[in-house]
Amino acid sequence: MGVAIEVAGLVKRYGATPAVDGVSFSVAEGEAFGYVGPNGAGKTTTIRSMLGLVRPTSGTIRILGRDISSDLRAVLADVGHLPGEFGLWPQLTGLECLEYLGDLQGRPPVRRKELCERLELSAADLHRQVRVYSRGMRQKIGLVQAFQHDPRVLVLDEPTEGLDPVMKERFGGLLDEHRRAGGTVFLSSHILTEVEQTTERVAVIKAGRIVATGATADVTGESVHHCTLVLKSPIADGALDVAGVSALESDGLVHRFEFRGDMEALMRQLGTFAVQEFVCEPEHLAETFFEIYREVR
Ligand code: ADP
Repeated sequence: MGVAIEVAGLVKRYGATPAVDGVSFSVAEGEAFGYVGPNGAGKTTTIRSMLGLVRPTSGTIRILGRDISSDLRAVLADVGHLPGEFGLWPQLTGLECLEYLGDLQGRPPVRRKELCERLELSAADLHRQVRVYSRGMRQKIGLVQAFQHDPRVLVLDEPTEGLDPVMKERFGGLLDEHRRAGGTVFLSSHILTEVEQTTERVAVIKAGRIVATGATADVTGESVHHCTLVLKSPIADGALDVAGVSALESDGLVHRFEFRGDMEALMRQLGTFAVQEFVCEPEHLAETFFEIYREVR
């Protein structure tokens, strides 16, 4: 499997202040890579550099083996980009926007018709000026243009902003199909559950530098589960003294605790109780990231 995205030593300064200060990472073809960090960390600047929208102060960026500084047009034909704050030209119709953006992509919009149908953009909608569009409709145009030329690499910045739950699900379907077909995804989002569900690897950027990187599951650390056990009849003191259980709080038939590690012994023990309900939720990436942000501050 080849390398889809390779960013090496990327620096972008605005005056004396670096927005991105020596960022390097690579994303394999077929991989989904998450890029997360607090506001102002340098995520958008990294993405804009990858698409030739800002000129890096130094560093190199290669996409599907091509250097973007010398081969940008060829790169753009293979990339679908959804910017974070997706602006359109208010006086153009939706269709005119798609055509204009399609011309920049330089590859025929082979999927446009199908995408408009799936995202419920009617012909009447497409012939209306964008200035009368709702936020959600503008985001749908953003999604259609990102996928319309069937790109091999998707670069998505906060892709589900402004979408209602039904459209979020349709977008999830498009992303799954792209993955199944061997496509690559670079996803920047502050919705950490989205990053957790979508990506295998993640980089955390803070103040222009990558402060943590690795398998999404590893970066989250040893995963902690928050468990609630409701029983039908009481158990003996110490019956929940099982490896991995901590912070146990018992209140009558309700027991709350944290769990880390292999669950086999716990499940075996629960099998000896009269269980009414057992809820066990993994800790979210968000909590782990807050820890990372704190550590590097
Ligand atoms: P993020 O997308 O992670 O929120 P950005 O890449 O937008 O972060 O911004 C990183 C830093 O660079 C911020 O401090 C921001 O104020 C600064 N910055 C971004 N674009 C410009 C610009 N055009 N001129 C000056 N400073 C900028």
